[in-house]
Amino acid sequence: MDIDYSPEDAAFRDEVRSFLAAHLPAAVRDGAAASPTVFVEPEIGQAWNAVLNARGWLGYQWPREHGGTGWPPLWRYIFEKECALAGAPNLTVLGLKLVAPVIWTFGTPEQKAHYLPRILSGEDYWCQGFSEPGSGSDLASLQTRAVRDGNRYVLNGSKIWTTHAHHANRMFCLVRTDTEARKQAGISFLLVDLDQPGISVRPILSMAGDHEVNQVFLEDVVVPVEDRVGDEGQGWSIAKFLLENERGGSCHAPKLCYDLDRLEAAAQAESDGRGGSLADDPEWRRKLARARLSAQALEMIELKIISEIAKGRPPGPQTSLTKLLASNLRQDIDLLAVDLYGAAGLQLATARPLYGDDAPVPVHSREAQLAAPRYLNSRAWTIFGGTNEVQSNIIARSVLGL
Ligand SMILES: Cc1cc2nc3c(=O)[nH]c(=O)nc-3n(C[C@H](O)[C@H](O)[C@H](O)COP(=O)(O)OP(=O)(O)OC[C@H]3O[C@@H](n4cnc5c(N)ncnc54)[C@H](O)[C@@H]3O)c2cc1C
Repeated sequence: MDIDYSPEDAAFRDEVRSFLAAHLPAAVRDGAAASPTVFVEPEIGQAWNAVLNARGWLGYQWPREHGGTGWPPLWRYIFEKECALAGAPNLTVLGLKLVAPVIWTFGTPEQKAHYLPRILSGEDYWCQGFSEPGSGSDLASLQTRAVRDGNRYVLNGSKIWTTHAHHANRMFCLVRTDTEARKQAGISFLLVDLDQPGISVRPILSMAGDHEVNQVFLEDVVVPVEDRVGDEGQGWSIAKFLLENERGGSCHAPKLCYDLDRLEAAAQAESDGRGGSLADDPEWRRKLARARLSAQALEMIELKIISEIAKGRPPGPQTSLTKLLASNLRQDIDLLAVDLYGAAGLQLATARPLYGDDAPVPVHSREAQLAAPRYLNSRAWTIFGGTNEVQSNIIARSVLGL
């Protein structure tokens, strides 16, 4: 889809394109293409972060005073779009997009000075400790307890589905500091050092065979009071701010369009055994066209939200709409790939990512090999960051006023 950019915006887009053409390493692009997971492995993601950081573009959503670009919202969108169209990996959002805005909005000057540069440099790799066994959609019921002991908190409990906790050295965490108050009012937001006794990280393997998520156990884990963000009991408001950022101001559509183009190109390259290509199947083409139209409509909604943000308004609850639409479309596209390849798309590879010395000898094309892992992995889209049902409730209540 062509958007009419102003001359300045178009010049910026061209600058980003030239940068990507010159500086996106082939190994990083191939690693991203071979990863069926939402986040790439840290060796791929951090290599790309370092390239962007050297150019001063890693904090592309950050204010200038904290080491970011200070770009306007449309430029951030253009940047993400061009990165997606160039096949760059998804950036690991946990530090850059989730905890960083919390720190610069609610943190102390010391927290800002210490933590923000370490996110950009890659010294700190963050994970998100919100969900617990029994507390996901009903997050305010969380039980992990933090008891104040002088100038420190002592934590006991467990967090679950913690993405990349096995790679992380820090976890931002919601904990219960008051058991008497109303459940939302008893929650605080802490920054936890994972490199200490009392932390254990147990892997959870997905049905696609990937190790992305974990259960994290906390046993008498110590957090200095100066690593609490905001006031005691303010954790729930901070979490709502963070979740709105997690769902909102997003740029899903360009990546979905890119994946549709990639899928169509792959289908054209696969013979149907009758002198044509798999892409010739009219029913499949109909589904492809429908998905492409949905992706283009989603891009319009995303740009509308960007224009609201540019006017100084918060992303708001309509970001639940983009999360819902993008998640459904992600799954539709991955189903299209499985449809396309049939039995050839059902092979499950034994190694991730699918390159390097340990990769299995391919039987079919790489796209075919990735169809099943991608399909299985993307089941999670309608769960993480708030399930489809939870997003629908938010839309019904806060957007439609039902
Ligand atoms: C791949 C993956 C990565 C994740 N990464 C992280 C992470 O890094 N950090 C983190 O903290 N969490 C993470 N999560 C957890 C995620 O946020 C939760 O799984 C999600 O919020 C749902 O919670 P739950 O699993 O406890 O399911 P439940 O809340 O128990 O929901 C079960 C079912 O009931 C439905 N339901 C629940 N409440 C309602 C309602 N009020 N109305 C209608 N239907 C309802 C849900 O939609 C769902 O279908 C991740 C999850 C996945 C799958």
